[in-house]
Amino acid sequence: MSTQHKPTTYTLNELGLSADKLDRHAVSITDRLVKAGFQAYLVGGCVRDLLLGMHPKDFDVSTNAEPEEIQALFKNCRLIGRRFRLAHIHFGRHVIEVATFRGPHIKHDKNDSHAHKDGRLLRDNVYGTLEEDAWRRDFTVNALYLDPKKKTVIDYVGGIEDHQNRVLRLMGDPTTRFKEDPVRLIRAVRFKAKLNFQIDAHTAEPMQRMAPLLKDIPAARLYDEILKLFLNTQASQVFEMLRQYDLFKALFPQTELCLQKAESDSPLLLIKQAMENTEARLKNQQHVTPYFLLATLLWEPVRRLSEQNRSSFSSDTQAIHAAANEVVAHQVSRIAIPKRMTTPMREVWALQPRFHKQVGVRCLRFLEHPRFRAAYDFMLLRSQYGEVDPAIADWWTHLQTLAPAEQKLMTRPSQFKHKKSRKKKPKPSASDR
Ligand code: ATP
Ligand code: MG
Repeated sequence: MSTQHKPTTYTLNELGLSADKLDRHAVSITDRLVKAGFQAYLVGGCVRDLLLGMHPKDFDVSTNAEPEEIQALFKNCRLIGRRFRLAHIHFGRHVIEVATFRGPHIKHDKNDSHAHKDGRLLRDNVYGTLEEDAWRRDFTVNALYLDPKKKTVIDYVGGIEDHQNRVLRLMGDPTTRFKEDPVRLIRAVRFKAKLNFQIDAHTAEPMQRMAPLLKDIPAARLYDEILKLFLNTQASQVFEMLRQYDLFKALFPQTELCLQKAESDSPLLLIKQAMENTEARLKNQQHVTPYFLLATLLWEPVRRLSEQNRSSFSSDTQAIHAAANEVVAHQVSRIAIPKRMTTPMREVWALQPRFHKQVGVRCLRFLEHPRFRAAYDFMLLRSQYGEVDPAIADWWTHLQTLAPAEQKLMTRPSQFKHKKSRKKKPKPSASDR
């Protein structure tokens, strides 16, 4: 990777940026560091997003001060991470991350404990200069440094030009950079969707081929990445791109296999619909929970397996429980979905057969179940794609609109029999039962 280039410096004015869009806490941190004789800049996603007129999610600071030096300057500072030490500066609930410039890992030890034998970087904790820090970042548009004091942006890597052309370009040789950290593969997809940029052809070329490298990423790290991938207003586009680059297969192998084997588009459409619903909720500032989306992503493998093994169990619920155990165990070895997510996922799945019992007090008790609402939403999604008779979905929708006395009437055995004899219900499909 090249070093010792002259950077191009732009004024905020010529980039159409206004200093009053900067986070005042982040600016106060850079001010204090500079007063103490250090270099300090706003860097990464915040500069990139400001250039697009977007409101940055968070402001990160990059400096040549080392963690202990940062800590000595700020009372409200906590150092985190053992190998990769970062300073977190707290302003109430607001946290600004301050990182010391990092350099290339080969600088200090050439043959070396920092890289895995297949080129993956295991550590990234060697301090460096501003320029070295720029080159070890991922995409050029993520390697821009904003100096709030001088009101300039420093660009070593051609990031402004790429930004203006809406291009995501990995610095250096893409194959080497993806090998160093395969998470960059999913970051490329996420930023493409978030920013509506193109992935530069040279960067995109090895992506599909390198997708299997994601298998080596620790499952815990992948969980955080997955949330960032799907909990946003471009979730369905992200999902499509992940499939296009074979990244989805590396992340959710059981689901991908089922999608490939499916006789119809329904399982795929169900997932896409769930993604679109997430997008719509986020656009309306409604709450979204990751477990619901994860439940839809893993439902097809659970459904298939439970159907396959149904004869070994005494009920549909038991068959679903057993299938869920197997599918979840397999999935968490790839992506460490925490128990607080897998527990409600399992509940939502295992509650599905209860929608087929439209009679008796159990039915009314079901309405009170803490997971009823999520299970109901999940059932509605299934009914849209032919897994549940729409009449059953309507029945439950209607039941919820009634007063308790009417609900009792509607779920009385006689009422049910009467209704049944009047109008024969279509037989539920195998997956219904
Ligand atoms: P957003 O916050 O919108 O997700 P971001 O660019 O700020 O986007 P972060 O994950 O917060 O993303 O990372 C901050 C910066 O750290 C990035 O802009 C990039 O410069 C650098 N960075 C993050 N992850 C990597 C990586 N895997 N390889 C190289 N550089 C990275
Ligand atoms: Mg960020």
